[in-house]
Amino acid sequence: MAQLIEVPVTTQDAARLRPHLLPERWDRLAAAGRQRVRTLWHVNSTAAGGGVAEMLRPLIGYGRDLGITVGWLVIEADLDFFTLTKRVDNGLSGVRGDGGPLGAGEHRVYRRACAAAGAGLDAFVRPGDVVFLHDPQTAGLVEQVAALGAVPVWRLHNGADQENEHTTAAWHFLRPYLADAAAFITSMPHFGPAWLRDKPTATITPFLDPLSAKNRSLSPRETAESLGRWGIIETRSSPTDPALRPTILRSGGPTPEDRPTVVQVSRWDDVKDMAGVLRAFAEVVAPATDADLLLVGPEVTGVADDPEAGAYFERCAQQWRRLPAEIRGRVHLVCLPMSDPDAHATVINAIQRHATVVTQKSRSEGFGLTVTEAMWKATPVLATAVGGLRLQVDSPQVGVLVAPSASPAAFGAALLELLSDADRRRGIGHAAAERVRRDFLPDTHLLAELDLVAGLRLEATV
Ligand code: UDP
Repeated sequence: MAQLIEVPVTTQDAARLRPHLLPERWDRLAAAGRQRVRTLWHVNSTAAGGGVAEMLRPLIGYGRDLGITVGWLVIEADLDFFTLTKRVDNGLSGVRGDGGPLGAGEHRVYRRACAAAGAGLDAFVRPGDVVFLHDPQTAGLVEQVAALGAVPVWRLHNGADQENEHTTAAWHFLRPYLADAAAFITSMPHFGPAWLRDKPTATITPFLDPLSAKNRSLSPRETAESLGRWGIIETRSSPTDPALRPTILRSGGPTPEDRPTVVQVSRWDDVKDMAGVLRAFAEVVAPATDADLLLVGPEVTGVADDPEAGAYFERCAQQWRRLPAEIRGRVHLVCLPMSDPDAHATVINAIQRHATVVTQKSRSEGFGLTVTEAMWKATPVLATAVGGLRLQVDSPQVGVLVAPSASPAAFGAALLELLSDADRRRGIGHAAAERVRRDFLPDTHLLAELDLVAGLRLEATV
């Protein structure tokens, strides 16, 4: 039976953000919190794993400290529901996913789960509250939020640069559920069909939290220690901690500390094209360098709303097994448990800092926080020119983009070029961190969200 669960969030001291922000931004942020804002809610489908959960925790934590009343609910439902919403989500990204139908039977599954979950809304949401409903998993709650006299704003995180049969089918499925939405939010202005623009729409990009375990600064020593403890790199100083149990598919030992390392951190999902990175590395980069490749994702049972991860990981594993022995020894498929979120985030932080280059070879990408995270750490990024990655890497000074249609060989060639040019990597890394400071820290997001709420010109609080 589907239900809504409140996620506890600790208030975070917003003033600690100040040294990371552009100077003029802090004053605006502090003033925003003093305005009288309605109670806000965020509803999504998982409290851990994936970009949305990553963002909501600090948004709510800092928001509360600034004086905003804001809470977080997650929808819990069965596998049928998440298989279906994953299909819709893939469609919104313009990809096929599991290729299953989106017909009357699927509407029944979807409606039943949303009705059951929505029945619990009134335990949390009051008339006049503004409820941000994130992604396809929550579109079915729009009507019930409106019926309660609250204000539903539907927030789409993924998106496709071009319409195709998959986007058409997914939007056709969702449209009936969105009729009562007061406003829409997308990560890029061109995401979504034209009819979204019949309502107020805002483009609000995701952001990263510079103080989180994922993004806080780590010294080179802390970085090496973390990677050593997890058994990811071989260091003399930090022995492996047997309590941390990553599943690492590799034929030799950990990667040596001083070896150039290419990294992609992603969910195990075809849209992220880990398999394409593996191929580009094996065909072009490995024969020409002594670099290692780390493909890093969550444990395949770890993300509640991602039932296809296991099958995709297995596909990468098969590809890995077919590699020539010498190259196979330099490719590591790393699955990290999520059971301790802080430890998980810290090792991802360390991996992104340790990387010589971070890739994000996505076929489509709503925004791509993994790229923001690498940029903030001054690690140079090579990514495909899709969705939010184009927005982030808005010039060759802050990263390298390759056309999504480029062959694995062309992606490999760009990777090889970047690996071979230390000066360029340094320049890109430095500029990339400043790019993130300007547009992708919590201040920008919070202010944009409050502007949207103010722009709705809601009647006085009920
Ligand atoms: N992530 C993680 N562990 C992993 C893989 C990904 O913590 O094993 C995090 C990653 O650091 C980022 C988020 O999950 O913060 C992924 O967000 P992104 O926008 O890149 O992609 P999404 O998964 O939302 O499509």
